[in-house]
Parts: sequence; structure tokens; C-alpha cells
Amino acid sequence: MPEVLKAPLVVEFPFTRSLGPVQSAFLTGLRERVVLGVRTTDGRTLVPPVEYDPVTAQEIRDLVEVAPTGTVTTWAWNHAPRRGQPLATPFAWVLVRLDGADTALLHALDAPGPDAVHTGMRVRIRWAGDRTGAITDIDCFEPYDGEPEQPGDHTGEFDNPLTGIVAPARLDYTYAPGRAQSGYIDALSGRRTVGERCPSCRKVYVPPRGACPTCGVATSEQVEVGPRGTVTTFCVVNIKAKNLDIEVPYVYAHIALDGADLALHGRIGGIACDQVRMGLRVEPVWTEGARYPDHYRPTGEADADYDTYKELL
Ligand SMILES: [Zn+2]
Repeated sequence: MPEVLKAPLVVEFPFTRSLGPVQSAFLTGLRERVVLGVRTTDGRTLVPPVEYDPVTAQEIRDLVEVAPTGTVTTWAWNHAPRRGQPLATPFAWVLVRLDGADTALLHALDAPGPDAVHTGMRVRIRWAGDRTGAITDIDCFEPYDGEPEQPGDHTGEFDNPLTGIVAPARLDYTYAPGRAQSGYIDALSGRRTVGERCPSCRKVYVPPRGACPTCGVATSEQVEVGPRGTVTTFCVVNIKAKNLDIEVPYVYAHIALDGADLALHGRIGGIACDQVRMGLRVEPVWTEGARYPDHYRPTGEADADYDTYKELL
């Protein structure tokens, strides 16, 4: 049995969003060192502000300024800060109810250790030097033993308000594909495609998942399939994906490799888009050093009879 593989996997993308009037005012306010909340119809002040009253679902737009000082309502110590977190040294995650607010804001508290943090402690915002209109315009909170500061009377009207943000999203983890897919990937390194047969219904799954989803039993018998296969269905892609070096239009297809009872996905090349059809016989094309076929091309054989793949659609 091959070794179960694992590899680092990073999924990363910039998430672009528009803000709407309330979040626009909140983030623009942070840029100007002003913290804004929103007042609900029953007179509560929510910080961070929301666009709809959580109780009545009414639209709320009544922005009010709150103080940069407040009280910790609960906290948790972070022993090992990760990349992108507010502070590089250990800190407390805190919920802070700012003076003038009825709800609490999540942020970081710079403190020497967990013994220096307690619920009810007084804190104050430490502003970032370089502010752009983001939650990170608050560097963090710091302990504060002075009087509550008095908020100004800002109502959320700013020159040059922020209307959108780009929030980078990143998932950074170790992926282990499991026993069945490790075998599949291992075989691909030798340019072979290996599936697994269900002991009950005899279907061959490619790529294998380790169990038959129909019968609910584990699969273990390896079966080599392909390399040739049949296009069972396909689409023409006309939209160019960012960072994908393939000219449009191109065809992406479901391909049932010979001997497989499940179609896999692949790009079809070596044929005009409008000539691709269900039943087209194809074979993989490998590029040097690749870990999977670059695309599939026609073999020149006669098209497969519909009855031979109709159960695989
Ligand atoms: Zn089965």
C-alpha cells in the first residue's frame, strides 16, 4: 500500500466588496479616528454598526459617535499569534464595549500576559499611524486607567468616504488526500490512472474516494483504467479566468476513461470547439514534468455508441 500523501495547500484570493452607507461611515470614521455606532429604534447603540435592526429587521441609519475608551466584557489569551493577526507578540482577544455603546467590538488587547487581563478592565484604542479605512486602523486596545473619554458628535458625514474594500482571504493548511486518492496520485506520477472497484456493485470509481457512495462500503481493489476515454458531455468556456493561461474559447468535458464507471473532468484540445461532441474518443496529452494530463485530444477512432456511455452522464 502506498504511503498516504500530504502537502501544504494555500487557497488565497482578494475579496472585493462594496460597503453600503453604514459600513462606509464606520470604516471611513476609523480612518479619521472616529468610532461610529448605529442607534436602533429602541435607543440602543450598536458598535460595530449593522444596517438592519437585529430585533425588528428595520433599516437603521442613525449614526452616533462613541468614545475610544471602554470596558472588556470577555477575553481569551492568544499564546501564538499567526500571520496577519493584529499583534506579532502574544495578546488577548477581547470584546470591548466602548463608552456610549450597548454592544461589544472584537479586537486585540496588548497586555504583558493573561494575568494582566480581566473582564471589566478599562481599555482605550491605540490608533494605527497609517490609516486607510479598515478595522486595522485600530492597532489594538491598551489598558487605560483614566476617565471615560467624551465622544464627539459626528454623524457619519465625511469628505471622500470609502465605498469599498479589498479583503485578502487566505486559507493555509496541510491537505491529506487519504489512502485511496494517495494511490491515485501515486499512479499518476507514472502516467497511469487507477480507480477503485466497489466490492458490492462492481462500479469503478475514478478518482477513488475510498468508499462507494451508493453501497456505503469501503473500496480497496485497485483497477487501472484508460488511458483512452469518451467525452460524455462538455461545455464551451468563453470567460477567461484570471491567472489561468488558457485562451478562450476552449472546451471542458466530462470524460469516461475506458473501464471507469464515473467520468472525470478535463480540457479538450487539438480540435475546434464546434467539432467537439458527445461520444468523441480522446486520449491524454502529457507535458514534461506534469503531474496530470494537460488536456485530452481526439484519438481519431469512430465515436462511441451512445449506449456505451449513457449510464455515465
Ligand atoms: Zn457500490
